[in-house]
Amino acid sequence: MINLGLDTKVEFLKGIGPQRAALLNTEVQVFTYADLLEHYPFRHEDRSRFYDIGEITEEYPYVQLRGRISDIKLTGEGPKKRLVAQLQDRTGMVELVWFQGIQWIHPKLKNGQEYVVFGKPQLFGRRFNLSHPEIDPFLPDQPTTGLIPVYHTTEKMKRRGMDARGMGVLIKNVLEACYRQVEETLPDSVLAKYKLMARKDAVWNIHFPKTPELLNAALARLKFEEFFFIQLRLLIQKFIRRTSYRGQLFNKVALLTDFYNQHLPFSLTDAQKRVIKEIYIDFKSGRQMNRLLQGDVGSGKTIVAFICMLLAIDNGAQACMMAPTEILTEQHYQSLKVFTNLLGLNLAKLTGSTKTVERRQILKKLQSGELHIVVGTHALIEDDVQFTNLGLCIIDEQHRFGVEQRSRLWRKNPQIYPHILVMTATPIPRTLAMTLYGDLDVSVIDQLPAGRKPIKTTRYYDAHRLKVFDFMRAQIHLGRQIYVVYPLIEESEKLDLKSLQDGYESVCRAFPEFFVSIVHGKMKPADKEYEMQRFVRGETHIMVATTVIEVGVNVPNASVMVIENAERFGLSQLHQLRGRVGRGADQSYCLLMTDVKLSKEAKIRLDTMVRTTDGFEIADVDLKLRGPGDMEGTQQSGVLDLRLADLAKDQKILLAARQTAEELLTEDPELAAPELLPTKNQLAKLRQSKGWSRIS
Ligand code: ADP
Ligand code: MG
Repeated sequence: MINLGLDTKVEFLKGIGPQRAALLNTEVQVFTYADLLEHYPFRHEDRSRFYDIGEITEEYPYVQLRGRISDIKLTGEGPKKRLVAQLQDRTGMVELVWFQGIQWIHPKLKNGQEYVVFGKPQLFGRRFNLSHPEIDPFLPDQPTTGLIPVYHTTEKMKRRGMDARGMGVLIKNVLEACYRQVEETLPDSVLAKYKLMARKDAVWNIHFPKTPELLNAALARLKFEEFFFIQLRLLIQKFIRRTSYRGQLFNKVALLTDFYNQHLPFSLTDAQKRVIKEIYIDFKSGRQMNRLLQGDVGSGKTIVAFICMLLAIDNGAQACMMAPTEILTEQHYQSLKVFTNLLGLNLAKLTGSTKTVERRQILKKLQSGELHIVVGTHALIEDDVQFTNLGLCIIDEQHRFGVEQRSRLWRKNPQIYPHILVMTATPIPRTLAMTLYGDLDVSVIDQLPAGRKPIKTTRYYDAHRLKVFDFMRAQIHLGRQIYVVYPLIEESEKLDLKSLQDGYESVCRAFPEFFVSIVHGKMKPADKEYEMQRFVRGETHIMVATTVIEVGVNVPNASVMVIENAERFGLSQLHQLRGRVGRGADQSYCLLMTDVKLSKEAKIRLDTMVRTTDGFEIADVDLKLRGPGDMEGTQQSGVLDLRLADLAKDQKILLAARQTAEELLTEDPELAAPELLPTKNQLAKLRQSKGWSRIS
């Protein structure tokens, strides 16, 4: 084995053979020695010392104990059969329990003999027990063995001897033989600057560290590397696009000036002006724009989008705007309609429910150039939607669209790619944005229009409903409208629909003098639309709804948002919902109705909502609570298949990695320096691996 390289197939490993190799391939995607080395443990067990039984608390995930066994007993019948024994040291006693494999364990146990036991303590009544611990006779000269790696394996693998321990043995064999062949991927200067461990040492120490410090150093090094190559890749993409994709020149501003001077109903905030300038610079640059526009709910992204469209149209191009739902599309259509009518521009709406005849006409007018702007849902992506000259694509509420869809829009103008403006509804923490949209330029509207009063947010227990109803009544008498939102989770859909229905009825009963709308996802689009429109026109006072109204809906006169079962919503959802009010000049309110009993996380979420209205702050808390995998928009994105690093916990490492990648590329865009050869090779290798093809 000594002379074999890291790309050797695992079946050639001693003790593996074709069958187990096949299992490694299919179960954990391990094909070569190198893959095996990168099959990192997901944690380590601390075998560096024996714990006293008396000191065990539930805080310890795993403990290693040493004691004598007594009271070995078989109890129960059939499936309830179990093997129980007591383990005692000088500080206390715990119970050991086995439900399976009893016939193997039982003969190994001897009353009065001393054992080493390793397992996870669980509180059972007032005593701790360890179920299915590892157990071995204590040997007098037995070393305490330090940190033991624990690997992900599957049932099938375990049946063939490749359990956590078995994997450890395989990996150790490969490491001992091939350790020296593990190649460095980062330049010396970077290793030195951030005091990173050499790669081969990191690979060794992530499996078999002698101390927790070495394990941490290994982790830091490998996480840095993981972030670094993702950032390098994204930045290279950005760089390539910047330099090689031409973009249409939008430098005429007559239409925009006309609109600005004659029709703009308010003055833009400084932040809006700054963002428009940033975009205008892209439009004049001759290169394709790929820009992310971040702005909190209500910060006025729509008008910025419209102004950009005017620039496109003035310069002979068409614009499209894509939204994730029909309701939102309709909303955009209505708000744009006001402006396009004033300016004599042609606007159309295209969704899945557009009638065939109408659709055909729209397609024709897009091709002839008669239509200036089209807003729509996914329907816009369809191949038969062709433009005469698509110059600008605006994607609203990006998190619902995959990266693939973004690129299908590009191809609608093969002569010269359209400029792309992606608008996010939910602010994303900087580190997440860096990874999800690391290839885009970023603009931020970090200011709300003047005169907006911060929304007042309060928590109420369900028991105080009457007080809440009184408040609602008073607000409606002041001329305002109100949302009452219920959660709708797919798993409990029936129950949720029922509570929505009950809620609707109780609202109707409590307010016989007012008109009430109801909207939920199970309604026919037309009915939904009808109810929505009644509320938009002010014909109904209260809108009882599920989260279908979450994104984008704009009714400035609605100033109260009542969220039922608020503890069941995620933070970004709560923030989105709250963003539906506070859109007019009136003081707005958000009332969070909750149960008395709340989980720790729910409390943090609700407290955060009460404390702040800053979307970025909320997003940060959200990221920390949920981890990036659960944040909206991250699922379809391959960039988050991180093996070691964690976007929430390892932000510092990410920032350092991003900065390093930026510096290297600025200095040497081709990565031509000899020092960078290992980096370049690694990049090429990663490009071929399958996880990476999903990134762009
Ligand atoms: P979002 O960024 O959430 O999409 P919108 O574009 O829907 O926000 O804007 C929210 C509301 O604020 C709309 O009614 C819009 O007309 C209004 N608005 C936007 N910009 C300004 C401004 N500069 N001054 C006053 N009102 C504005
Ligand atoms: Mg919007």
